[in-house]
Amino acid sequence: MVTKEDVLKEAAEKGVKFIRLQFTDIFGVLKNVAITVEQLEKALEGELMFDGSSIEGFVRIEESDMYLRPDPDTFVVFPWRPKEGAVARLICDVYNPDGTPFAGDPRNALKRVLAEAAEMGYSLNVGPELEFFLFHTDNEGRPTTVTHDRASYFDLTPVDLGENARRDMVLTLEQLGFEIEASHHEVAPGQHEIDFKYSDALDIADKVETFRFVVRTVAQQHGLYATFMPKPLQGINGSGMHSNQSLFSKGKNAFYDAQGPLELSPTAYYYIAGLLKHARSYTAITNPTINSYKRLVPGYEAPCYIAWSGRNRSPLIRIPAKRGSSTRIELRSPDPSGNPYLSLAVQLKAGLDGIKRRLTPPAAVDLNIFAMSGEERLAHGIDALPASLEEALTELSKDSVMKDALGEHIYQRFTEAKTKEWDSYRLAVHQWEIDEYLATY
Ligand code: GLN
Ligand code: MG
Ligand code: MG
Ligand code: MG
Repeated sequence: MVTKEDVLKEAAEKGVKFIRLQFTDIFGVLKNVAITVEQLEKALEGELMFDGSSIEGFVRIEESDMYLRPDPDTFVVFPWRPKEGAVARLICDVYNPDGTPFAGDPRNALKRVLAEAAEMGYSLNVGPELEFFLFHTDNEGRPTTVTHDRASYFDLTPVDLGENARRDMVLTLEQLGFEIEASHHEVAPGQHEIDFKYSDALDIADKVETFRFVVRTVAQQHGLYATFMPKPLQGINGSGMHSNQSLFSKGKNAFYDAQGPLELSPTAYYYIAGLLKHARSYTAITNPTINSYKRLVPGYEAPCYIAWSGRNRSPLIRIPAKRGSSTRIELRSPDPSGNPYLSLAVQLKAGLDGIKRRLTPPAAVDLNIFAMSGEERLAHGIDALPASLEEALTELSKDSVMKDALGEHIYQRFTEAKTKEWDSYRLAVHQWEIDEYLATY
């Protein structure tokens, strides 16, 4: 626990001049209010006001006064600025003028579900695996989908600019307090993955926000563009954000049971069942873009059917081999375009619902689901993930447990915006249609 006094002391010692107060909108877009060090003490007391009406998905004009309450634990000095007049950041919670947490703040939504878990005796640890593409920019500096990279999964030879950029990303993330566990080239040309050590869910959601911003910044310094768009190119792998998760209770891994089937506890099975049960609806949050659904198709190591397995990698949920305190389950559908706070809030809520209702998961499917026919899948009771954002939104609208995880305010704003997004896509005439129909009819 870092105190306000610690923050003030460190800011003085490191010659910090500017502090960026950060928070995110409901789409996970990072927002900043910059202050000078002279205002830091006031800011730490939660006395700084900002106009919430300018933030998408926040509030309407007439109710726009919001307060930021910085979380001292999130204080870091950016390593890429000069020592003189250094720049630091603090991640904030958003509060209403009357001192209540603002219902439209995603970080508050995650905290609410974490508090519910705590009441049941659990804390959530998460280890995310973020994948992204590094592309070249054009002469005007705009991102393209061009990569000159010829490397592939785990290639050792540094054959391109991307390798150097990735090394720099790892070093910068380490300077910001990340413990990097692995960093490697992914399957597709230009695709990379950097994994950092698991931590409690709130810390991880903060870190995912920081990660995306650091990776983009460092890519830019190398003349590249980093994108977390889930499926930038047809015909090759997309980018996922596997979510490795475990519940802890009284300092022990609550998913581990040496005597249980597969050495998993009843709690683990309830949690898995909850994640499977609500999968069709929380996908709207874990995979919130139209493009997300172009990743969730057969053939590219991304899940599209709702099943779990202790062995193979094709289903939605996999149980990595580690046991003991490292016992965990891996949800493979989330992608890095999601708001990490909301994404973890719905995942945890789904798992907790499984525990509360003591749900039993269907039998594990250790066969290759992609090789099954429709009838075989039906016989195994295997349902599919939504095929489009529209389908996912419809499912979400029918799931009161998931809506409860978001809260009414976020649910309303989110669906409104996403329905608009879907309509705009639906109305557009795409190149595919021109190619397919123009000359035929
Ligand atoms: N890129 C794959 C996905 O879309 C995952 C590849 C992997 O890490 N096995 O989820
Ligand atoms: Mg991985
Ligand atoms: Mg991977
Ligand atoms: Mg994985």
